[in-house]
Amino acid sequence: MSNSFDLNALYIEEEGENEVIDENETATELLRHAAHVLEGNEDNQPAIEPTIGAEFESGEQFAAFCYTYAYKTGFEIHVRSSQLLAPFKEQGVRRNGVGDKEPRFHMMNKIRFMCSEGNTMKKSSCVTPCKMYVFGKLNHDTGKFVICTCDLVHNHDLNPEVSRHVVNYRHISEYFKARLVLNDRAGIPITRNFNTLVREIGGIHNLHFNGQDARNFINSERRKTALISYEDTESFEWVFEKWMECMGRATAVLLTDQCKAMEGAIKKVFPETKHRLCLWHILQNADKNLKDHPQFPQIDRDLRTLVHESITEEELQDMWDDFMEKYNLRRNKWLRGAWDMRQRWMPVFWKDTFCAGMSSTQRSE
Ligand SMILES: [Zn+2]
Repeated sequence: MSNSFDLNALYIEEEGENEVIDENETATELLRHAAHVLEGNEDNQPAIEPTIGAEFESGEQFAAFCYTYAYKTGFEIHVRSSQLLAPFKEQGVRRNGVGDKEPRFHMMNKIRFMCSEGNTMKKSSCVTPCKMYVFGKLNHDTGKFVICTCDLVHNHDLNPEVSRHVVNYRHISEYFKARLVLNDRAGIPITRNFNTLVREIGGIHNLHFNGQDARNFINSERRKTALISYEDTESFEWVFEKWMECMGRATAVLLTDQCKAMEGAIKKVFPETKHRLCLWHILQNADKNLKDHPQFPQIDRDLRTLVHESITEEELQDMWDDFMEKYNLRRNKWLRGAWDMRQRWMPVFWKDTFCAGMSSTQRSE
């Protein structure tokens, strides 16, 4: 039986009347919202077929209906064309817009969904493009979004069983995102993290994402630590306060370079935290400050030896005195400053630091 319909006279598609944002570019942005739109529309009820005249409260509800129908029936859809409502166009919403300038389904005057099989959204496909489509438009008199025309005939088989594994419909719900992040922070490897969720939900067929989706999500979360416009104390304070909000407690030890702005922020936000300086950065700075000395290669060698090989504070003191005397460096301002803050970067003082870090971790477990 054919399910194709003629154009509804009331809702003739008026291409050219206003700018019609055509397929792939806008579709890419809208597809990012597809999984979100689909979420919450799942149940065990059979798919409801699109019918001409069916009304929806908004373009977003129309989109949710179309995605749910495609998901339950077993095919992929994409936005073939769409048209923004004039007020949103005037506000600067546009293709590739970001934030409140990003096109969303509820901003649309018209939306045409098409089956993706063999269409331009699946360029690798060599089958004849499927003609199935659903076209909806806002009725400005009633404020309802209405299905004007549709053709529900496909030129290929449908398989609802594979829908949840199709990229179009794969998504990680907020609940599972939170679980993945919590497990990851607890040190659980990604594979075991994912398998735990699979077991909990009774099998992979009940999940709407696969192991690779979980891996991609966790990796993207791990890459989030913070981008700031200015490296001043105020900006670092904001970063550390957000860190406190996320982690729930201060870190026992922080290792940084000799950034003064960061040091001020750490003192204010993490007053109990042991602030240590990165040894690699200190030795880099030593090279910069001492490289013009005629005996620099020997100085560099001896400095690294006393830093890494002194076992007690007394031994360090003796080696340091010999080093300063041997190369006549008593008046070197940078070395005097480095010695004054030796407890923050010399490894001989770090035993206490790591013990503090470990006991803090153990307390939290
Ligand atoms: Zn199709």
